[in-house]
Amino acid sequence: MDAGPDPDPDPGPATDEGPGPGPGPGPGPGPGPVPDPDPSTELNSSLVPDPVSDPDVEPLPRGGFRCRLCQISAANRPSLAEHLRGKKHQRLRSLRAERRAQEQRSLFVSGFARGTSGAELTEYFGAFGDVAAVVMDKEKGAYAIVELQDAAGRERALAEPQHSLAGHRLRVRPREQKVFAYGPGHSPCRESRGPGQLEQELCQAPDVDAQMTQLVGLLALSEDERRVRHLLVALFQEVFTEFFPGCAVMPFGSSVNGFDTRGCDLDLLLDLEPTKSLQASTREAAGNGSGSGAEDSILSDIDLAATSAPEVLELVAAVLRRCVPGVRRVRAVPTARRPVVKFCHKQSGLAGDISIDNRLALLNTRFLQLCAEADERVRPLVYAVRLWAKQQGLAGNPAGGGPLLNNYALTLLVLFFLQTRAPPVLPTVAQLRDLAGDEDRTVVAGWDCSFPRDAAALEPSTNTESSCSLLADFFHVFGDFDFPGRVISLREGQALPLPPPEAGEGLKLGPLNLQDPFELSHNVAANVNEKTAARFGRCCRDAAKYCRSLQYCRKSSKGRVWGLTRLFRPGAVEPGAANAGTFLISIPLDDASGSQQLCREPGGRGPWFREVCAAIAFVLRDVLKCSCAVGKPPQASGEESEFPEDSALSEELPAAPAAEEAAVGSKRRPPEATNGAALPGGKRPRTNGPEETANWSCAVWHRVWTGRRRLRRRLRHGDGDDVPDGDDLPDGAELELERKVSEAIAQQDEAGWPPEPLLRFEASARVAGTRREARVLLRLLPTPPPPGPLFRDFFHFLRSFLPVAVRRRLGQGGSPDPREGGDAEVFLSTACSPHEMLLYCHISP
Ligand code: ATP
Ligand code: MG
Repeated sequence: MDAGPDPDPDPGPATDEGPGPGPGPGPGPGPGPVPDPDPSTELNSSLVPDPVSDPDVEPLPRGGFRCRLCQISAANRPSLAEHLRGKKHQRLRSLRAERRAQEQRSLFVSGFARGTSGAELTEYFGAFGDVAAVVMDKEKGAYAIVELQDAAGRERALAEPQHSLAGHRLRVRPREQKVFAYGPGHSPCRESRGPGQLEQELCQAPDVDAQMTQLVGLLALSEDERRVRHLLVALFQEVFTEFFPGCAVMPFGSSVNGFDTRGCDLDLLLDLEPTKSLQASTREAAGNGSGSGAEDSILSDIDLAATSAPEVLELVAAVLRRCVPGVRRVRAVPTARRPVVKFCHKQSGLAGDISIDNRLALLNTRFLQLCAEADERVRPLVYAVRLWAKQQGLAGNPAGGGPLLNNYALTLLVLFFLQTRAPPVLPTVAQLRDLAGDEDRTVVAGWDCSFPRDAAALEPSTNTESSCSLLADFFHVFGDFDFPGRVISLREGQALPLPPPEAGEGLKLGPLNLQDPFELSHNVAANVNEKTAARFGRCCRDAAKYCRSLQYCRKSSKGRVWGLTRLFRPGAVEPGAANAGTFLISIPLDDASGSQQLCREPGGRGPWFREVCAAIAFVLRDVLKCSCAVGKPPQASGEESEFPEDSALSEELPAAPAAEEAAVGSKRRPPEATNGAALPGGKRPRTNGPEETANWSCAVWHRVWTGRRRLRRRLRHGDGDDVPDGDDLPDGAELELERKVSEAIAQQDEAGWPPEPLLRFEASARVAGTRREARVLLRLLPTPPPPGPLFRDFFHFLRSFLPVAVRRRLGQGGSPDPREGGDAEVFLSTACSPHEMLLYCHISP
């Protein structure tokens, strides 16, 4: 188990820029790691140091260079030298030096009373030297950065053994040094790779084994992202300790199990057992007239041991809501199998869960970690299968569950497969139990969770199969697997006949039976429905067939996609899907909105659907500057006439009860007349029964998906808007800003308005979902097919942009998915304490 982060990280300087003189008092601007150039030497090029030795410069293959500071690449030495002499580089260097100097004059102060003002802090610290600025933590007012006029003043303040203000003891530390990153959007750790880019990079690899190894590197969390997670855990630990003395916050799941991917959620366990013991001993001591410290806690009047689980969850939710800066959308879910409090962290964009009773998950996380470390083929195989399954819409963690395999279940499936190779790649859980030492013996909730904690205790596997052939075998094995008739047991490394021994009555059998390795009465795939299970088998068969082709095994000499990449195309290896294309965009709509209302409207959903269609057209046409004309219904277009029945998105939705079907796009619903003005300019999308759809013919004229973020920031601040980037504008203003961004992109096109569009496509919308979770599905068909890389890039952009924009147009406020809301870059470009990390977003320009 990961020991987790140090809850009180050393506030020493953390920079990415190599050794420089340490912080300390000293006049003038603080020392940066890169000596600032002397202008006189710049005139004499023979005296200019070799640009390649510049610590900001990193060599690239084929003689190129990258400037880490400015995040730009130079093709050769002369252009690098020119860049280093250029205005932009020099400006950033002096900005960096200025920041560093500022940091070295600043203090990080906490512990003051709620409501303390900046002026009070200025007055207090004025006793040590002139105060240049005080920046309060705007959100909770719990912390502040105090910048003194000079470093000597700061040193005097630090030399003071104790500080107190209005009866409160202050904690005063040096302000930590952050990694200097050029602008929030340029954090090196956050270079996001679109699917097209991932494909391109994988295609460069020499063979499938190399592609698989590369995949792990491309998808796994970067060091900076890990650091952010650790800092968040440390912050939670610090805050929760105030309320629940002795508690422990422990991460589990993909952040720590070796199968992490960028943006994966943060699963935490809040262990309150130590708090309960502390409370019990405090009570005992109070009976004897002595105290133990827990009586200082805000909770001193709540007996946790006697409080019900839902109440404790609410308490945890309240602490999160009120006391952890940056935490949003806190929601207790007491009815889940393992009750949790869900939250999202605004600045990092991370979504997470806090459980209060899930020790088994800590153990199964440790088990996955052991497997990941046991053999070097495990991670590549799991990453490849996960991405394949995600792209085929077979697995993932859809909000609110759904009938897909979750990533934990899918990972177990891969581990089981590796246990059953001849010879095995991984040992069974029963074998691991026999290898466990005394220190590894653990029983949780009556289940034996003993296995070695250290992978060094395992014999290396004698199996020599390559990752490439293991992946092909995986598809082959599960293509013909009897999922409903057997139970997959990782404990035994076998598919057992029903009912399996030792599982007890509780094991819920279904179309896919995958027994938890420890909690034997739990089918981790109990949520999977027949349709998904059948489709899983079918997709495996298709993938197995593809893996037998030369295209899988051999790198294309003509630059075509090959190997893994084709497996990762959505629906790409399903029969018939390649032509139909599974370019579906799901637009979830709020419960409280007309989606509910539509179900109550006698006669169906016409006006509501048309309103959504009008919003789609508005976004395409007005916001993204696409042409968007009323199109033909799919039947008439000569293309496949329906949305793919087995599409990922439609399957994600729970089977609708008969009464709901009419509301969710059942073909039995009677046709409706269309009478609303759905398109701007008075045009209406054509809707057609019996399944009501709206159809458009669209053309994309500019690369509206490229450079959006940068322009958005520029436009936002250029308008004199001082709202921090992370804060939402009102819906209308957000859309207006996006419209301006597209306009600016269009204006950047040197050739003006191009004579021909970049892309054309047909779009077709229909309603899907249930009474509680209505959504509109938009299907895109490139014209002419097949979809090229440009279309794919556009589609991947639109897939995340459109739902948010449509919701805004309908006044539903952006995305229901918290992961889409954060400004991760701001957050990731810092390397500081949890407190400072949160402040950073407010104080950086
Ligand atoms: P990701 O978040 O990337 O999808 P994950 O492994 O973290 O992957 P989660 O669904 O977030 O998946 O679950 C977190 C952890 O909770 C899992 O790693 C596992 O330890 C445990 N877990 C999840 N689902 C189950 C389940 N059905 N049964 C038992 N434990 C589970
Ligand atoms: Mg997770």
